Amino acid sequence: MDRIEAFTTVISSMPMPALIIGRSRRVLSMNADACALLGHDGTGLHFTAIIRQPGPIAAIEATLADAEHRRSVYAARDVDRDFRHEMEVTPLRKDAAAGVLIVFQDVSDAEGLGQMRRDFVANVSHELRTPLTALLGFIETLGGAAANDPAARASFLDMMQHEAERMNRLVQDLLSLSQLESQKYSRPEGKVDLSEVIGEAARLMHNAFATMKDGVHFDAPQESVFLNGNRDQLLQVFRNLFENAMKYGGGSAQVRVSLPAREAILRGPAAIVDIIDRGPGIEAHHIPRLTERFYRIDAHRSREQGGTGLGLAIVKHIVGRHGGRLRISSVLGEGSTFSVVLPRAKNF
Ligand code: ADP
Repeated sequence: MDRIEAFTTVISSMPMPALIIGRSRRVLSMNADACALLGHDGTGLHFTAIIRQPGPIAAIEATLADAEHRRSVYAARDVDRDFRHEMEVTPLRKDAAAGVLIVFQDVSDAEGLGQMRRDFVANVSHELRTPLTALLGFIETLGGAAANDPAARASFLDMMQHEAERMNRLVQDLLSLSQLESQKYSRPEGKVDLSEVIGEAARLMHNAFATMKDGVHFDAPQESVFLNGNRDQLLQVFRNLFENAMKYGGGSAQVRVSLPAREAILRGPAAIVDIIDRGPGIEAHHIPRLTERFYRIDAHRSREQGGTGLGLAIVKHIVGRHGGRLRISSVLGEGSTFSVVLPRAKNF
């Protein structure tokens, strides 16, 4: 086996993009992952024909000159995503003339996750700080200016309760999310009567929004529909969606259940619950982002209504855990439809 053949055998078995550059600065060999990452097979070409970024080029040149191990970062762009690869440049021998081995490691996900975590912590801190600052202000006023004014005291206590409830809701929602995350890979096991859960969620909504003009109208299907699921979690899904219809969807919702024998995405029988409101609708560019944590179309309005910005994120997690999907469609000026698509167990 000659030297190049030996290199090719070694790097073709590596589970990440890898290539070897000889002292002539030509690519001696590259594996399939490297061809995919760098766009084409550059074997035999000068290495700058396939690696065109200044940082990585400088690192390779330097290692070819002094046989010291180096690291660099290679940035790539796919159709809809940016990638970052950590690039290791290792001399083949302690002798610079022998050439270098280049190995790439995709670190985009790790960096994306780190960024998501940082954003999340910043969001939570911001959301908690607002009511906390208000509470501190009220406490100070109660201890000073309003100390001997019973009317002012009552009104401040009212506002303090309001802020404390807001913090409580936020903490509850965060706990729900973290619990759901830990259950991500375990499918729920109970048997749930879908109409019963929707009916209960509607009843609870009518109690909470007694002043709302219209409320939830539910056309229950003739036959009973049973699902594999966790009743409390499904109740939370419908409560959150009904509550949103009350808050943002014009104060009323029509709930319809359909039972397709086969739903393409779920590859089997499904129960689809459409929650249709006649609110102002949602602009198309917001729709894919609504289930992100803390994403709100109008943050001020959401906060005013007692929203935490986590309701739809919770809905998406619960529906996902049940093997289902959440679909959102909307026509501006006409209203929105939130559809919960759940798999129907064949044996019920
Ligand atoms: P919250 O209601 O606590 O702000 P959600 O995650 O439940 O958080 O909803 C996120 C955002 O989606 C809301 O702030 C609102 O802007 C928008 N939204 C949700 N439901 C509807 C609806 N039925 N019609 C219009 N906008 C809605």
